[in-house]
Amino acid sequence: MNLIDPIVAFHSELQEIRRNIHAHPELCYEEQRTANVVAEKLTAWNIPVIRGMGVTGVVGVIKRGTSAAAVGLRADMDALPMQEFNTFPHSSKHDGKMHACGHDGHTAMLLGAAHYLAQHGTFDGTVYVIFQPAEEGGGGAREIEVRQVVHGAQATAAASSPVHSRACTRKTRPTAPGDRHDQSQVVPSVRHFEKLQLQRT
Ligand SMILES: [Zn+2]
Repeated sequence: MNLIDPIVAFHSELQEIRRNIHAHPELCYEEQRTANVVAEKLTAWNIPVIRGMGVTGVVGVIKRGTSAAAVGLRADMDALPMQEFNTFPHSSKHDGKMHACGHDGHTAMLLGAAHYLAQHGTFDGTVYVIFQPAEEGGGGAREIEVRQVVHGAQATAAASSPVHSRACTRKTRPTAPGDRHDQSQVVPSVRHFEKLQLQRT
C-alpha cells in the first residue's frame, strides 16, 4: 500500500480525534458532541461548514477552481447501544453506549481526507465531506439527502463501507430506506467511505 506522506505525518492527531470520539459515543441523532468536534476541526482547517444537516449532520465544502463538478465522501458518527468492556484509557465513558462499529474511525478517516484535500488537493470542483448521523438504523443518510436538496445539491447514496465491524452488521437491527443496512440499498464499495454523487438542482 502506498501511504501519502502528509497523511502519515498527520497520524497522531487523527489517532487523538478517533480516541476522543471513541470515549464519547452518542446514539442516533444525538451526535451533538461529535458534530461539534467535526465542525471545530473543519473550521480550524479553513473548510466552510454546514451544520444541522439531518439534525446533527455536518458537511464540509472544499472548493477548488471553477468547475461545477462535485463529489461527496461520507462517514457516519453514531455509536451503538452496547456496553464496552475494554479497559484502555479511551474506552467509553457512557454506560450502554459504544463505538463498536467503527464510526469513530470512519469520522477520523474522513477528517483526515478533508485535511489532506484542503491542504494539498489539486482537483477542479467541489468535494463535500459529509458526516451523517444515525447510520445505525436511523435513516440518517436519507435525512441528509432530503436536506441536501434544500441547499442546492441533490445527493444519491451509492455504496456501503467494508470496514464496519460485526456488531454493525447484526441482521436483527431495524432498517430504514436509504440506510446502509437496508439491503435493497446496499452496493459493494472498495473504499472506506460511502460515495455520493452530487448533482446541481
Ligand atoms: Zn455502522
